[in-house]
Amino acid sequence: MIEQNISQILSELPDGVQLVAAAKTRTPAEVLAVVSGGVKIIGENYVQEAERAYEVVGSRAKWHFIGHLQGNKAKKAVRLFDMIETVDSLKIAREIDKWCTQIGKVMPVLVEVNSGREKQKSGVLPEKAEELIREISGLKNIKVMGLMTMGPRLGNPEDARPYFVETRKMFERVKKLNLSNVQMKYLSMGMSNSYKVALEEGANIVRIGSKLFGERECGATAAAQGL
Ligand SMILES: *Cc1c(COP(=O)(O)O)cnc(C)c1O
Repeated sequence: MIEQNISQILSELPDGVQLVAAAKTRTPAEVLAVVSGGVKIIGENYVQEAERAYEVVGSRAKWHFIGHLQGNKAKKAVRLFDMIETVDSLKIAREIDKWCTQIGKVMPVLVEVNSGREKQKSGVLPEKAEELIREISGLKNIKVMGLMTMGPRLGNPEDARPYFVETRKMFERVKKLNLSNVQMKYLSMGMSNSYKVALEEGANIVRIGSKLFGERECGATAAAQGL
């Protein structure tokens, strides 16, 4: 089942587009199954869940952090992850930079944009993104490599298009600024229901969970957070 899902999705992705398997609530065995099936990047929302999966999968995959990073988890996160896709404040950027400096690592990050301007969502507001990127560019052990957005969760994937378009425009604009220590290369947008629209609007990283692993069980997300 998982193998069919993987090959179907991979066959739909143009060259140069990276698939991130969004693994929240999945067991280490499920994560291992998608890696064995050919997925090269695992996206984790929770540091603890990532640690458990890493014990089984290790460096057979690259690890992207795609959740909301809390300052007290940054130390562990910088050791574990190859990219942090969800930097949305100078505060968390400084925390990542601090721990990376200690271990001599430069962390590639994406700046998460709250393209839907939703109150309860993480991500920097679109009008604040450029300023944040300029500030982060001064940190030596972080390298901004692009933007990530979720967009509002809407029933119809077509309704997500304006948010992807806006994020893409911002991506191009920041790229043209040629800021030092910033390399605008990745645009991470699109999930199971919206990745086709996101690809049309220029995404080169898509983060897919349920279409790869199967639907999540109700309540599983809360359980994964230890609630
Ligand atoms: C869960 C999640 C996804 C994938 O969602 P699906 O609808 O299961 O594909 C993508 N990105 C982030 C940040 C997520 O938390």
